[in-house]
Amino acid sequence: MDLSLIPKLRRRACRAQDGLCFYCRLQMTNPTAEHLIPRQHGGPTTASNIVAACRRCNERRHADPRCRPMTVDEYATLVLLEHQAGISASTTG
Ligand SMILES: [Zn+2]
Repeated sequence: MDLSLIPKLRRRACRAQDGLCFYCRLQMTNPTAEHLIPRQHGGPTTASNIVAACRRCNERRHADPRCRPMTVDEYATLVLLEHQAGISASTTG
């Protein structure tokens, strides 16, 4: 795996998403490269598997290394439910 590709793919994803987080849709000040299929599950570092996500979303989705990360759908649903409940989606961006 060529990790040097990550910054390039992150910038590309960020542009494609207009600078908005893939999950919570907030403007990102410090975007991260999010692997849709996690690296530890064999997810490739390719444009089709990399999206830009805010640090908070990226860390939350992979918060507990003992458990499998939430799937994209599971995490997106969590964010949606929080929005509906009026919970602020981001404090630091
Ligand atoms: Zn986010």
